[in-house]
Amino acid sequence: MKQEIDLLIKPEFVDAYKDGYPLLTRESIANIDKLGKQGQILNLVDSKKKFIAKAYYGIQNKGYGWVLSLDKDEKIDSSFFERKIVDAIKYREDFYSDSYTTAFRVFNTQGDGIGGLSIDYFDGYYLITWYSEGIYVFKEEILKALKSAVKYKGIYQKKRFDVKGSFLEDGEDFISGSTAPCPLIVKENGVNFAIYLDDGAMVGVFLDQREVRKTLRDKYSKGKTTLNTFSYTGAFSVFASMGGASKTTSVDLAKRSLAKTKEQFSINKIDASTQDIIVEDVFHYFKYAVRKKLSFDIVVLDPPSFARSKKHTFSASKDYVNLLKEAIKISSKNGLIVASTNSANFSMMTFRGFIDRAFKELKIGFKVQESFSLAKDFRVDPKFKEDNYLKVVFIKKLT
Ligand code: SAH
Repeated sequence: MKQEIDLLIKPEFVDAYKDGYPLLTRESIANIDKLGKQGQILNLVDSKKKFIAKAYYGIQNKGYGWVLSLDKDEKIDSSFFERKIVDAIKYREDFYSDSYTTAFRVFNTQGDGIGGLSIDYFDGYYLITWYSEGIYVFKEEILKALKSAVKYKGIYQKKRFDVKGSFLEDGEDFISGSTAPCPLIVKENGVNFAIYLDDGAMVGVFLDQREVRKTLRDKYSKGKTTLNTFSYTGAFSVFASMGGASKTTSVDLAKRSLAKTKEQFSINKIDASTQDIIVEDVFHYFKYAVRKKLSFDIVVLDPPSFARSKKHTFSASKDYVNLLKEAIKISSKNGLIVASTNSANFSMMTFRGFIDRAFKELKIGFKVQESFSLAKDFRVDPKFKEDNYLKVVFIKKLT
């Protein structure tokens, strides 16, 4: 059993923690020198030493840890982790029983009661992501809990310890059970994905866009030319194709995207040579497209929140309006723009403001068809709504 220590919370933050706010912030801590080592269990107390909440110390982005319980007597042991994991699995029963989708999130950080920990499911394999050294201290307890809660073929991990959340490559991704095939083929709404559990930070799919991909395929793509920017493995292109798009064009700067996108098409029995897959800076491509007077019925925009290429620095909060304007210029009459961002720095309202501005500046009308935030398996803590980072808007250009 780990020893617990008291951590004094400044008076102005006490009510928020009592009310269930999960993130331990630096500015809320009165005696910061008491923190000890990451992984330390902390009893947050007020100035009268009265218990407020139980948390652990783990440095992640700007945070100092996460609240685990509001119950003074709760023990943070393998049975605590097992209760949380069992509850998370129960909440996703419909995913486990859906044979068309074999990849989804099983455990979503503070949304499932443990900040700093996520677990994804890939057709019988589990991938644990540790977001701080603090949560990694509980590795044995959490593994034990997961193993007793589920049947698994194998268990993998990713360590994203450093403050920026970047990936630690240490050859220790595989933990337990049998190793997964390379690639492991999983399904999402009947479409195949090639997953690599042991090949760097990204495994081949961003699970949080599942509903968006399905909507693009089922409602919008039939007969349409589709430009997929920041395309990575071409997931949106493949879904558009499966929905009957007349042609897709995928553009990504990373060299790996070419082979990955070809593979993605071929495992879905689409001849990749009938599609355009371009390795290039998206901003160059926009210029080229304007010069060649190209236009597309659908343009998908899914940039990273922040990216630096040789000539460009892109930051979603500063540059999204311009990105939209570039897309509007090369979209067809009554074309569709799928604008997506995973930036947690601004709200859906702000994002809708960017869209408004871009169309106004070009004096073009638009209509929002539908919008998306995180799906059910990316469960969000109702006391920490800022965590619902995903914003996707389907916009119809009017004329
Ligand atoms: N839309 C993808 C995920 C995008 S991840 C999907 O649905 O799976 C972000 C991608 O943007 C990365 O693959 C990265 O290589 C690419 N990228 C970043 N800056 C870029 C730029 N200036 N031009 C083209 N691609 C870029």
